[in-house]
Amino acid sequence: MYKLIARDGNAKRAEFQTVHGTIQTPVFMNVGTAAAIKGAVATTDLKEIGTQVELSNTYHLHVRPGDKIVKQMGGLHKFMNWDRPILTDSGGFQVFSLAGLRKIKEEGVTFRSHIDGHKIFMGPEESMQIQSNLASTIAMAFDECPSSVAERSYVEDSVARTTRWLARCKTEMARLNSLEDTINKNQLLFGINQGAIFDDIRIDHAKAISEMNLDGYAVGGLAVGESHEEMYHILDVTVPHLPLEKPTYLMGVGTPANILEAVDRGVDFFDCVYPSRNGRHGHVYTNQGKRNLFNAKYELDQRPIEEGCQCPACRNYSRGYIRHLLKAKEMLGMRLCVLHNLYFYNTMMSEIRQAIEEGRYKEYKKQKLEGFLENDKK
Ligand SMILES: [Zn+2]
Repeated sequence: MYKLIARDGNAKRAEFQTVHGTIQTPVFMNVGTAAAIKGAVATTDLKEIGTQVELSNTYHLHVRPGDKIVKQMGGLHKFMNWDRPILTDSGGFQVFSLAGLRKIKEEGVTFRSHIDGHKIFMGPEESMQIQSNLASTIAMAFDECPSSVAERSYVEDSVARTTRWLARCKTEMARLNSLEDTINKNQLLFGINQGAIFDDIRIDHAKAISEMNLDGYAVGGLAVGESHEEMYHILDVTVPHLPLEKPTYLMGVGTPANILEAVDRGVDFFDCVYPSRNGRHGHVYTNQGKRNLFNAKYELDQRPIEEGCQCPACRNYSRGYIRHLLKAKEMLGMRLCVLHNLYFYNTMMSEIRQAIEEGRYKEYKKQKLEGFLENDKK
């Protein structure tokens, strides 16, 4: 299923076969929280901007419209008209970050919906059942993401519970995949490494979950307030203890520079809201760094966001026009910026894959990182 094609230092270039098609890695998954990429981007647009995997959030879809509704509509793929791979998160992160008033027990977590305040219970079994109803390609294990500043004793207890939860996720996923009316009977399960910023907890946990023979492994609980250096350090110590012959996913990360550094440390799956969130605020990524299209200097600028970019925005519209749309709060302004940003990320991943194959990843990374700083000098 997961075939390593090339390695360059620790960087991995692989193919991951799923029932919804083959994923070329390293890959950036495009985040569509509530089964849509924010910024009025449709699944038909995603094919044009090189998206391989769409990511949706279990918590959001469970709260609205409800995973049972999605199942009755034929599953997430049919619901949103997307025939390529979809990854769903476990709901854990949102439960711990978004939901109000929560109570953690061995069985799971009780919390209040951020939409209408009603009480919801979610544990490993519930998370697997919801993701099975959504029928995503890849389901994520239900875990707790302890704060990066949590006390050591809290993190130890939390990680031990996350390991016990993972075993329950695996059992429940196997049961669901064997049921007659399950939409995707080949749903895959990725486990998640936790341990905040404690090296030894991270390493012990990575070893423990690696023995559970899952379809892939994620490093979670990063990009939640620690420094970039701390994040890179955790990757340096943790990734070598995860299976080389399985996907390695860094959850919720990050900037183009973060991705370049993480690829160099053996990560090959990514997701982040930055390209869409920044796009909606008129912040666009280029090979010369980030630009703020609200800036007055773009008022009469006839050039596209980035010269040479083949995205739908750059092929058709000028910086000056998009700036006007953003200032006039026309939805099209946001949409064009989001399309450009996702295209930028997806294209960078394709360049990364090529550079690894050609054994020049370090050189590519260096040149790319230097380019990102250019805009700051102007
Ligand atoms: Zn563009």
